[in-house]
Amino acid sequence: MISLNEQRISENFKSRGKFVDLTTTAKNEARAFVELEQLTTLWFNTGTLCNLACKNCYIESSPTNDELVFVSEQEVRTFLDEIIELNLKTEKVAFTGGEPFLNKEMIPILELSLSRGFEVLVLTNAYRAIDRHFETLKSFNTTYPGQLNLRVSLDHYTAEEHEKERGAKTFDRTLSTIQKLVDWGFDISIAGRSLKHEPLFEALEGYQTLLDQSGIPLKIEMDKNIVIFPEMSPEKDVPEITTACWDILNVSPYAQMCANERMVVKRKGSEKPIVLPCTLITYDSDFELGDTLKESFKRVYLNHPYCAQFCVLGGASCSV
Ligand code: SF4
Ligand code: SF4
Repeated sequence: MISLNEQRISENFKSRGKFVDLTTTAKNEARAFVELEQLTTLWFNTGTLCNLACKNCYIESSPTNDELVFVSEQEVRTFLDEIIELNLKTEKVAFTGGEPFLNKEMIPILELSLSRGFEVLVLTNAYRAIDRHFETLKSFNTTYPGQLNLRVSLDHYTAEEHEKERGAKTFDRTLSTIQKLVDWGFDISIAGRSLKHEPLFEALEGYQTLLDQSGIPLKIEMDKNIVIFPEMSPEKDVPEITTACWDILNVSPYAQMCANERMVVKRKGSEKPIVLPCTLITYDSDFELGDTLKESFKRVYLNHPYCAQFCVLGGASCSV
Protein backbone atom coordinates (compact mmCIF):
# COMPACT_ATOMS: atom_id res chain seq x y z
CA MET A 1 0.00 0.00 0.00
CA ILE A 2 1.44 3.36 -0.94
CA SER A 3 1.11 6.36 1.30
CA LEU A 4 -1.69 8.52 0.02
CA ASN A 5 -2.43 12.18 0.65
CA GLU A 6 -6.13 11.62 1.16
CA GLN A 7 -5.40 9.19 3.98
CA ARG A 8 -2.58 11.27 5.47
CA ILE A 9 -4.76 14.37 5.55
CA SER A 10 -7.61 12.48 7.16
CA GLU A 11 -5.27 10.96 9.79
CA ASN A 12 -3.78 14.37 10.46
CA PHE A 13 -7.20 15.85 11.26
CA LYS A 14 -8.20 12.79 13.29
CA SER A 15 -5.13 13.20 15.48
CA ARG A 16 -6.54 16.65 16.35
CA GLY A 17 -9.95 15.18 17.16
CA LYS A 18 -11.69 16.33 13.97
CA PHE A 19 -13.56 14.16 11.46
CA VAL A 20 -13.54 11.22 13.86
CA ASP A 21 -17.09 10.30 14.82
CA LEU A 22 -19.41 9.60 11.91
CA THR A 23 -22.40 11.59 13.13
CA THR A 24 -20.94 14.06 15.66
CA THR A 25 -18.24 16.70 15.31
CA ALA A 26 -15.39 17.42 17.73
CA LYS A 27 -17.58 20.12 19.31
CA ASN A 28 -20.32 17.54 19.85
CA GLU A 29 -22.59 19.04 17.21
CA ALA A 30 -24.61 17.05 14.69
CA ARG A 31 -22.51 16.40 11.62
CA ALA A 32 -24.02 17.47 8.30
CA PHE A 33 -25.17 14.76 5.93
CA VAL A 34 -26.43 14.53 2.38
CA GLU A 35 -29.24 12.28 1.15
CA LEU A 36 -29.28 11.09 -2.42
CA GLU A 37 -31.83 13.14 -4.35
CA GLN A 38 -31.54 11.36 -7.66
CA LEU A 39 -28.69 9.49 -9.33
CA THR A 40 -28.21 11.69 -12.38
CA THR A 41 -24.54 10.83 -13.00
CA LEU A 42 -22.79 7.55 -12.41
CA TRP A 43 -19.00 7.77 -12.43
CA PHE A 44 -16.57 4.93 -12.93
CA ASN A 45 -12.96 5.20 -11.94
CA THR A 46 -11.38 3.21 -14.75
CA GLY A 47 -8.17 2.66 -12.72
CA THR A 48 -5.56 4.90 -11.14
CA LEU A 49 -2.73 4.11 -13.53
CA CYS A 50 -1.78 7.13 -15.60
CA ASN A 51 0.85 7.89 -18.19
CA LEU A 52 1.56 11.17 -16.35
CA ALA A 53 2.38 11.83 -12.71
CA CYS A 54 1.08 15.33 -12.07
CA LYS A 55 2.37 17.05 -8.98
CA ASN A 56 -1.02 17.82 -7.46
CA CYS A 57 -3.07 14.97 -8.84
CA TYR A 58 -5.73 14.67 -6.12
CA ILE A 59 -5.95 10.90 -6.62
CA GLU A 60 -2.16 10.54 -6.92
CA SER A 61 -2.27 8.68 -10.18
CA SER A 62 0.96 7.76 -11.85
CA PRO A 63 2.49 5.03 -14.02
CA THR A 64 2.89 2.93 -10.84
CA ASN A 65 -0.19 3.66 -8.69
CA ASP A 66 -2.60 0.79 -9.26
CA GLU A 67 -4.48 1.08 -5.96
CA LEU A 68 -7.65 1.26 -8.04
CA VAL A 69 -7.44 -1.36 -10.76
CA PHE A 70 -8.98 -1.30 -14.23
CA VAL A 71 -12.75 -1.88 -14.26
CA SER A 72 -13.94 -4.28 -16.95
CA GLU A 73 -16.73 -3.97 -19.49
CA GLN A 74 -18.62 -6.71 -17.66
CA GLU A 75 -18.39 -4.82 -14.37
CA VAL A 76 -19.64 -1.62 -16.00
CA ARG A 77 -22.45 -3.62 -17.64
CA THR A 78 -23.63 -4.89 -14.25
CA PHE A 79 -24.11 -1.34 -12.98
CA LEU A 80 -25.76 -0.12 -16.19
CA ASP A 81 -28.14 -3.09 -15.95
CA GLU A 82 -28.95 -2.08 -12.40
CA ILE A 83 -29.87 1.43 -13.58
CA ILE A 84 -32.51 -0.19 -15.80
CA GLU A 85 -33.67 -2.64 -13.12
CA LEU A 86 -34.17 0.16 -10.60
CA ASN A 87 -35.74 2.40 -13.24
CA LEU A 88 -33.38 5.24 -12.35
CA LYS A 89 -33.36 8.56 -14.19
CA THR A 90 -29.58 8.45 -14.68
CA GLU A 91 -28.64 10.61 -17.67
CA LYS A 92 -24.90 10.53 -17.67
CA VAL A 93 -22.17 7.94 -17.30
CA ALA A 94 -18.76 9.47 -16.68
CA PHE A 95 -15.27 8.02 -16.62
CA THR A 96 -12.22 9.26 -14.80
CA GLY A 97 -8.86 7.77 -13.89
CA GLY A 98 -5.91 7.77 -13.98
CA GLU A 99 -6.00 8.02 -17.71
CA PRO A 100 -9.09 6.12 -18.92
CA PHE A 101 -7.57 5.34 -22.31
CA LEU A 102 -4.97 3.13 -20.63
CA ASN A 103 -7.76 0.73 -19.68
CA LYS A 104 -7.73 -1.99 -22.35
CA GLU A 105 -11.51 -2.35 -22.18
CA MET A 106 -12.21 1.37 -22.49
CA ILE A 107 -13.49 1.16 -26.05
CA PRO A 108 -16.00 -1.67 -25.35
CA ILE A 109 -17.01 0.20 -22.18
CA LEU A 110 -17.69 3.37 -24.17
CA GLU A 111 -19.60 1.51 -26.86
CA LEU A 112 -21.75 -0.18 -24.25
CA SER A 113 -22.53 3.12 -22.49
CA LEU A 114 -23.28 4.97 -25.72
CA SER A 115 -25.44 2.17 -27.10
CA ARG A 116 -27.51 2.29 -23.91
CA GLY A 117 -28.30 5.92 -24.75
CA PHE A 118 -26.37 7.65 -21.97
CA GLU A 119 -24.55 10.93 -22.28
CA VAL A 120 -20.95 9.87 -21.84
CA LEU A 121 -18.22 12.02 -20.34
CA VAL A 122 -14.58 10.95 -20.40
CA LEU A 123 -11.91 12.86 -18.48
CA THR A 124 -8.62 12.51 -20.30
CA ASN A 125 -5.22 14.14 -20.30
CA ALA A 126 -5.27 13.92 -24.13
CA TYR A 127 -1.62 13.09 -24.01
CA ARG A 128 -0.60 10.17 -26.23
CA ALA A 129 -2.73 7.35 -24.74
CA ILE A 130 -5.86 8.60 -26.51
CA ASP A 131 -4.14 8.71 -29.92
CA ARG A 132 -4.54 5.07 -30.84
CA HIS A 133 -8.30 5.38 -30.40
CA PHE A 134 -8.87 8.42 -32.62
CA GLU A 135 -10.52 6.47 -35.46
CA THR A 136 -12.83 4.49 -33.15
CA LEU A 137 -13.81 7.63 -31.26
CA LYS A 138 -14.62 9.34 -34.55
CA SER A 139 -16.88 6.45 -35.48
CA PHE A 140 -18.63 6.69 -32.09
CA ASN A 141 -19.18 10.38 -32.68
CA THR A 142 -20.86 9.60 -35.99
CA THR A 143 -22.96 6.70 -34.70
CA TYR A 144 -23.97 8.42 -31.46
CA PRO A 145 -24.03 12.14 -32.33
CA GLY A 146 -24.07 14.53 -29.38
CA GLN A 147 -23.65 11.80 -26.75
CA LEU A 148 -19.88 11.81 -26.21
CA ASN A 149 -18.04 14.59 -24.42
CA LEU A 150 -14.30 14.51 -23.86
CA ARG A 151 -13.07 16.71 -21.04
CA VAL A 152 -9.41 17.47 -21.49
CA SER A 153 -7.25 18.64 -18.61
CA LEU A 154 -5.24 21.66 -19.55
CA ASP A 155 -3.84 22.74 -16.23
CA HIS A 156 -3.18 26.28 -17.20
CA TYR A 157 -3.30 28.41 -20.32
CA THR A 158 0.44 28.97 -20.18
CA ALA A 159 2.85 26.20 -21.09
CA GLU A 160 5.02 27.13 -18.14
CA GLU A 161 2.36 26.59 -15.45
CA HIS A 162 0.89 23.54 -17.17
CA GLU A 163 4.29 21.86 -17.40
CA LYS A 164 5.21 22.73 -13.82
CA GLU A 165 2.33 20.47 -12.90
CA ARG A 166 2.38 17.86 -15.67
CA GLY A 167 5.98 17.64 -16.79
CA ALA A 168 8.09 18.90 -19.66
CA LYS A 169 6.78 18.82 -23.22
CA THR A 170 3.21 18.00 -22.26
CA PHE A 171 1.59 21.31 -23.20
CA ASP A 172 2.00 21.46 -26.99
CA ARG A 173 1.05 17.85 -27.47
CA THR A 174 -2.15 18.23 -25.44
CA LEU A 175 -3.06 21.47 -27.18
CA SER A 176 -2.57 19.91 -30.59
CA THR A 177 -4.82 16.98 -29.59
CA ILE A 178 -7.49 19.47 -28.50
CA GLN A 179 -7.15 21.11 -31.91
CA LYS A 180 -7.59 17.78 -33.71
CA LEU A 181 -10.60 16.78 -31.62
CA VAL A 182 -12.31 20.13 -32.22
CA ASP A 183 -11.55 19.94 -35.96
CA TRP A 184 -13.06 16.44 -36.07
CA GLY A 185 -16.27 17.75 -34.52
CA PHE A 186 -15.98 16.33 -31.00
CA ASP A 187 -17.84 17.92 -28.15
CA ILE A 188 -14.89 19.06 -26.03
CA SER A 189 -14.70 20.65 -22.64
CA ILE A 190 -11.65 21.80 -20.75
CA ALA A 191 -10.71 21.21 -17.14
CA GLY A 192 -8.47 24.07 -16.12
CA ARG A 193 -7.09 25.63 -13.01
CA SER A 194 -6.71 29.17 -11.75
CA LEU A 195 -3.63 29.99 -9.77
CA LYS A 196 -3.73 31.42 -6.28
CA HIS A 197 -4.58 35.14 -6.56
CA GLU A 198 -5.67 34.68 -10.18
CA PRO A 199 -9.27 35.86 -10.54
CA LEU A 200 -11.59 33.54 -12.40
CA PHE A 201 -12.31 36.04 -15.18
CA GLU A 202 -8.60 36.37 -15.84
CA ALA A 203 -8.21 32.60 -16.11
CA LEU A 204 -11.17 32.40 -18.51
CA GLU A 205 -9.75 35.17 -20.65
CA GLY A 206 -6.39 33.41 -20.65
CA TYR A 207 -7.89 30.15 -21.94
CA GLN A 208 -9.93 31.93 -24.61
CA THR A 209 -6.91 33.89 -25.82
CA LEU A 210 -4.85 30.71 -26.00
CA LEU A 211 -7.54 28.94 -28.06
CA ASP A 212 -7.96 31.95 -30.36
CA GLN A 213 -4.22 32.35 -30.91
CA SER A 214 -3.88 28.62 -31.60
CA GLY A 215 -6.63 28.78 -34.24
CA ILE A 216 -8.91 26.43 -32.24
CA PRO A 217 -12.52 27.44 -32.92
CA LEU A 218 -13.87 26.84 -29.42
CA LYS A 219 -15.78 29.55 -27.57
CA ILE A 220 -15.59 28.73 -23.91
CA GLU A 221 -18.47 29.26 -21.52
CA MET A 222 -18.02 28.73 -17.81
CA ASP A 223 -19.85 25.65 -16.50
CA LYS A 224 -20.76 24.67 -20.06
CA ASN A 225 -17.53 23.67 -21.73
CA ILE A 226 -14.91 24.74 -19.23
CA VAL A 227 -14.56 24.05 -15.55
CA ILE A 228 -11.87 25.91 -13.64
CA PHE A 229 -10.78 24.53 -10.32
CA PRO A 230 -9.16 26.93 -7.89
CA GLU A 231 -5.74 25.96 -6.62
CA MET A 232 -6.43 24.13 -3.37
CA SER A 233 -4.35 23.59 -0.26
CA PRO A 234 -5.66 20.24 0.94
CA GLU A 235 -3.62 20.29 4.14
CA LYS A 236 -5.02 23.57 5.45
CA ASP A 237 -7.26 23.49 8.51
CA VAL A 238 -10.98 23.41 7.79
CA PRO A 239 -14.03 23.41 10.06
CA GLU A 240 -16.29 20.40 10.37
CA ILE A 241 -19.65 20.95 8.68
CA THR A 242 -22.65 20.69 11.00
CA THR A 243 -26.35 20.48 10.16
CA ALA A 244 -26.63 24.15 11.18
CA CYS A 245 -24.07 25.16 8.54
CA TRP A 246 -26.51 24.78 5.64
CA ASP A 247 -28.55 27.76 6.85
CA ILE A 248 -25.60 29.75 8.12
CA LEU A 249 -23.77 29.40 4.80
CA ASN A 250 -26.95 29.44 2.71
CA VAL A 251 -25.77 26.31 0.94
CA SER A 252 -28.05 23.41 0.08
CA PRO A 253 -27.12 19.79 0.80
CA TYR A 254 -28.63 19.02 -2.61
CA ALA A 255 -25.95 21.16 -4.27
CA GLN A 256 -23.28 18.64 -3.21
CA MET A 257 -22.15 16.05 -5.72
CA CYS A 258 -23.10 13.17 -3.45
CA ALA A 259 -26.77 14.24 -3.72
CA ASN A 260 -26.80 13.30 -7.37
CA GLU A 261 -23.80 11.13 -8.07
CA ARG A 262 -22.03 7.95 -7.15
CA MET A 263 -18.70 6.51 -8.27
CA VAL A 264 -17.77 2.89 -8.86
CA VAL A 265 -14.19 1.85 -8.09
CA LYS A 266 -12.38 -1.45 -7.88
CA ARG A 267 -9.67 -1.73 -5.25
CA LYS A 268 -6.52 -3.72 -5.82
CA GLY A 269 -7.03 -7.24 -4.48
CA SER A 270 -10.85 -6.98 -4.39
CA GLU A 271 -13.03 -9.40 -6.26
CA LYS A 272 -15.61 -6.86 -7.24
CA PRO A 273 -16.13 -3.12 -7.48
CA ILE A 274 -17.76 -1.01 -4.78
CA VAL A 275 -19.72 2.22 -4.82
CA LEU A 276 -18.49 5.49 -3.28
CA PRO A 277 -20.41 8.78 -2.88
CA CYS A 278 -18.32 10.89 -5.25
CA THR A 279 -15.12 11.28 -7.23
CA LEU A 280 -13.24 13.14 -4.51
CA ILE A 281 -12.83 10.61 -1.72
CA THR A 282 -11.53 7.44 -3.23
CA TYR A 283 -9.36 5.70 -0.68
CA ASP A 284 -11.27 6.14 2.62
CA SER A 285 -13.01 2.86 3.41
CA ASP A 286 -15.48 4.71 5.69
CA PHE A 287 -17.05 6.10 2.52
CA GLU A 288 -17.74 2.72 0.94
CA LEU A 289 -21.50 2.50 0.47
CA GLY A 290 -21.94 -1.04 -0.82
CA ASP A 291 -21.51 -3.37 -3.78
CA THR A 292 -24.57 -2.23 -5.71
CA LEU A 293 -26.23 1.04 -6.58
CA LYS A 294 -29.22 0.12 -4.46
CA GLU A 295 -27.02 -0.43 -1.42
CA SER A 296 -25.31 2.90 -2.06
CA PHE A 297 -28.48 4.95 -1.77
CA LYS A 298 -27.83 5.85 1.81
CA ARG A 299 -27.12 9.01 3.74
CA VAL A 300 -23.56 10.35 3.39
CA TYR A 301 -22.12 12.01 6.48
CA LEU A 302 -19.61 14.73 5.60
CA ASN A 303 -16.90 13.16 7.71
CA HIS A 304 -13.84 14.07 5.66
CA PRO A 305 -11.90 17.35 5.36
CA TYR A 306 -12.48 17.31 1.58
CA CYS A 307 -16.25 17.59 2.18
CA ALA A 308 -15.67 20.92 3.86
CA GLN A 309 -12.85 22.27 1.77
CA PHE A 310 -13.76 21.17 -1.73
CA CYS A 311 -17.54 20.96 -1.57
CA VAL A 312 -19.41 22.93 1.07
CA LEU A 313 -16.90 25.78 1.38
CA GLY A 314 -15.20 25.46 -2.01
CA GLY A 315 -18.19 24.76 -4.23
CA ALA A 316 -16.40 22.08 -6.25
CA SER A 317 -18.24 19.87 -8.69
CA CYS A 318 -16.53 17.50 -11.06
CA SER A 319 -19.50 16.93 -13.28
CA VAL A 320 -20.38 20.24 -14.87
S1 SF4 B 1 -3.24 13.30 -15.93
FE1 SF4 B 1 -4.91 13.45 -14.45
S2 SF4 B 1 -5.01 11.43 -13.49
FE2 SF4 B 1 -3.04 11.55 -14.56
S3 SF4 B 1 -1.60 12.20 -12.97
FE3 SF4 B 1 -2.34 14.04 -14.05
S4 SF4 B 1 -4.08 14.80 -12.86
FE4 SF4 B 1 -3.66 12.67 -12.24
S1 SF4 C 1 -16.37 15.22 -0.83
FE1 SF4 C 1 -18.20 16.37 -1.42
S2 SF4 C 1 -19.36 15.05 -2.78
FE2 SF4 C 1 -17.84 13.78 -1.70
S3 SF4 C 1 -18.92 12.96 0.10
FE3 SF4 C 1 -17.93 14.85 0.73
S4 SF4 C 1 -19.49 16.47 0.40
FE4 SF4 C 1 -20.15 14.66 -0.71
